[in-house]
Amino acid sequence: MRNYLVAGNWKMNGDSAANSALCREIVGGLSRADSVGILVCPPFPYLESTGAKLEGSGVTLGAQDVSEHRSGAYTGEVSAGMLKDMGCEYVIVGHSERRALMHETSEAVAAKVAAALREDIKPILCVGETLGERDAGKTERVIAAQVGAVLDALGIEAFSSAVVAYEPVWAIGTGQTASPEQAQKVHKYIRELLAQRSRDIAEGVQILYGGSVKGNNASGLFAMPDIDGGLIGGASLDAAEFLAIAEAAASNS
Ligand code: PEP
Repeated sequence: MRNYLVAGNWKMNGDSAANSALCREIVGGLSRADSVGILVCPPFPYLESTGAKLEGSGVTLGAQDVSEHRSGAYTGEVSAGMLKDMGCEYVIVGHSERRALMHETSEAVAAKVAAALREDIKPILCVGETLGERDAGKTERVIAAQVGAVLDALGIEAFSSAVVAYEPVWAIGTGQTASPEQAQKVHKYIRELLAQRSRDIAEGVQILYGGSVKGNNASGLFAMPDIDGGLIGGASLDAAEFLAIAEAAASNS
């Protein structure tokens, strides 16, 4: 039985005051935190202060990216050891914005998954197709290559600890959510891909959906058998929306 995970990706938003208020509202508004994993991923400079505010709340802390390297002359980078030191339990890797804007390859993303796992941090591996790829009928091929890079580098064992987030690029920040059926089809495909290596591991992997999830569409998505929660961008900056999404997960539990 897989638990739901609702993860907020705050991206490059907020400041000390706004993040404090958001934490306070999320922690104060959670009613059934124990039946659903709740995670927030603030920008690097706010990890420590956010972690302090979340202490004892049951809400976990994650980061938005990690270096593949352990330490050294990598100006501007942040290592998995540093994230661990700040109390991070999760890290998002391979978000489509980083794949597109920072030209992260699937091989580089696999190295980041490895770096996170070395420090016992759960990577949230983001995969997803662009609209052009979907229209060209290449969705499964794209997903297979993105997941395959991690399988090739690290084996199926990586997915004993990793979370997968299916985030169709065309749905991120656009308000155009994948329908529950569209998302379920890809989630099922991802699970089958993993099951080719290990049925047990595939059954246990949490596969989140991300892409314009809101309080009013979360329930339909979370009702699908292979959708185990959400990676939430815009709506995670609004405590009421984020709490409504968490509540939708709790109601489906
Ligand atoms: C995201 O960036 O991971 C995301 C899902 O964003 P949004 O919810 O705003 O579409």
